[in-house]
Amino acid sequence: MSTIFTQIVEGEIPARIVYEDETTVAFLDANPLAPGHTLVIPKDEYERLNDVPADVATDLYDTIHRMVPAVEDAVDADATTVAFNNGEEAGQEVPHVHCHIVPRFEGDGGGPIHAVAGEAPDLDDDELDEIAAGIESEA
Ligand code: 5GP
Repeated sequence: MSTIFTQIVEGEIPARIVYEDETTVAFLDANPLAPGHTLVIPKDEYERLNDVPADVATDLYDTIHRMVPAVEDAVDADATTVAFNNGEEAGQEVPHVHCHIVPRFEGDGGGPIHAVAGEAPDLDDDELDEIAAGIESEA
């Protein structure tokens, strides 16, 4: 069963497509958090960022880079929050990688990306060193 976003790519369900190239598409979110809330996806189905091949990741970022100023200019936004819910526990509902571009306006009542996680951990220097070393060894 293909994802709802693949059905958009295939033209099987309607969407307000605002940009398309060989490997990526951008379209308006059906339940916008702000006017101009746009999703950018790879046309091929990958569930998480971790699954996206490097060449597709480059194309995806190129489209995000193109769309952020386009969205901001179109709705006269002061800023944008640009984010991925990468995995179910992070809030991802559609299992097809998508970048949210959410226009932000002075006094819009929203928060920074720091507000998305739960309670902040209290980590000492040794724990931070160990975590940093673990991530570095995987990079
Ligand atoms: P997630 O929680 O997976 O990061 O976000 C999925 C997003 O896709 C939500 O913001 C939701 O409003 C949007 N969405 C879900 N179904 C559709 C659809 O059929 N069309 C469009 N344009 N957006 C959708």
